[in-house]
Amino acid sequence: MREYPRLYIDGAWRAPAGQGMAEVIDPASELAIGRVPLGDEQDVERAVQAARRAFGTWSRTPSSVRAGFIQALAEQLKARAAEMAEVITAELGMPVQWCQSVQVDGPIDGLEQYVELAGLMDRVHQVGNSRVYREAVGVCAFINPWNYPLHQLIGKLAPALAAGCTVVVKPSQETPLHAFLLAEMIDAIGLPPGVFNLVSGPGAKVGEALARHPLVDMVSFTGSTGAGVRVAQAAAPTVKRVCLELGGKSPFLITPEADLAAAVRHGVQDVMINSGQTCTALTRMLLPAQRYAEAVEIAVAEARQLVMGDPRVPASFLGPMCSAGQRRTVREYIEVGKTEGARLVLGDEPVPERGFYVAPTLFTEVDNRMRIAQEEIFGPVLCLIPYRDEAQAIALANDSPFGLSSAVWAGSREHGLDLARQLRAGQCFVNAAAFNYRAPFGGYKQSGNGREWGEEGLGEFVEIKAVQV
Ligand code: NAP
Repeated sequence: MREYPRLYIDGAWRAPAGQGMAEVIDPASELAIGRVPLGDEQDVERAVQAARRAFGTWSRTPSSVRAGFIQALAEQLKARAAEMAEVITAELGMPVQWCQSVQVDGPIDGLEQYVELAGLMDRVHQVGNSRVYREAVGVCAFINPWNYPLHQLIGKLAPALAAGCTVVVKPSQETPLHAFLLAEMIDAIGLPPGVFNLVSGPGAKVGEALARHPLVDMVSFTGSTGAGVRVAQAAAPTVKRVCLELGGKSPFLITPEADLAAAVRHGVQDVMINSGQTCTALTRMLLPAQRYAEAVEIAVAEARQLVMGDPRVPASFLGPMCSAGQRRTVREYIEVGKTEGARLVLGDEPVPERGFYVAPTLFTEVDNRMRIAQEEIFGPVLCLIPYRDEAQAIALANDSPFGLSSAVWAGSREHGLDLARQLRAGQCFVNAAAFNYRAPFGGYKQSGNGREWGEEGLGEFVEIKAVQV
């Protein structure tokens, strides 16, 4: 049991003003594994004031010194990577087979790039009689989801520290423990007081108070599109910068020339990893009609052999949903799919009695206008959609309110690249290419308006000043 009775504010662990503690539930055992404070508006006030006080000195600290703190944090994370992975498996339910590499080692890689990128803040360019400087945005509030908790947090924190911003973090109530562990590491590296502050609590209270706060210069939100809209509305009266990283319903366009077996297997695994709770999950598989039946067979066989079970057992590919609420949502969507007339070809397999499990679920004969093809389900549910020709495939891929990610599997790299340029999404993966922490990540359309990682991720935390001389 991890007990964190205090919040991390102004460089120390402090008793919360908010009353009560929230239990953190292990979604595999359904047992409480931790407790964190239910922070409130007063805690937000103290944290924001601390961040405000720290900003002046921190933003003027040489970028090389800030880079040193980023490196020190990366070293802490490396030293405690196994512990961090264990915490995330316990609070999220992601199997150990994936958890350390995806949820911890990846973010460390992403973090370390900012040791070098911090130096970009010193770049000054001359335009006529003007010197153009880069300066830190100011006090930033981070509101985060639960599905890749450390990844989301580092994706904001690393560039913010590099830029010279100070931050207040509100983790998801489902998975707050990793953020408390990270705060221990921040404390250990001696980051100046007020640069990093942590306030746990409900989004509607702590998150909204942060978004509204006049001394917060920027809110960076990752989560559902609905909550993102509410955050933007709460932030609007103070005209703060709002960076939104929202949901997705990403297409995977497989061409007739593709290696069908490899492509379909890859697509099934992509959706099933983290039990479908991935914002970029390729949940709409677009298949050439002439190879549709063959693809369905491959998909069913692949999904059937993925091991679902206790996330602490190394063989498990899929764990439970993160919460009972998420399991309910996914189950409801499966019923919606059936009533809409899609064909359930896999999904009624038995699941462990204890834990919030949902079996891998495949729908065929899906029309792209159905709700299960338009709305984000956030579970292990894959829609297989046939197309007649390339033009229709591209139209179907783009017929979505979302535009977070996409993928193609084509007969050649050139064809893949050509298709990638026609998809309206912030990311495209050609023939199973790997995720790249040095490339910008973010959404088109209702998937958001910000970019994380790489140089563009740093740009979100930068103000530009022109000084005429
Ligand atoms: P969520 O329900 O929108 O919550 C996200 C965060 O916002 C939580 O910390 C939540 O607090 C808080 N929140 C909720 N309502 C709020 C409000 N009115 N004002 C301020 N804060 C509020 O999303 P989720 O279920 O945690 O995460 C899943 C979603 O995140 C999916 O839609 C997924 O696609 C998206 N996502 C997007 C990306 C990306 O990079 N684009 C990455 C990962 C996930 P509580 O603690 O009270 O819930």
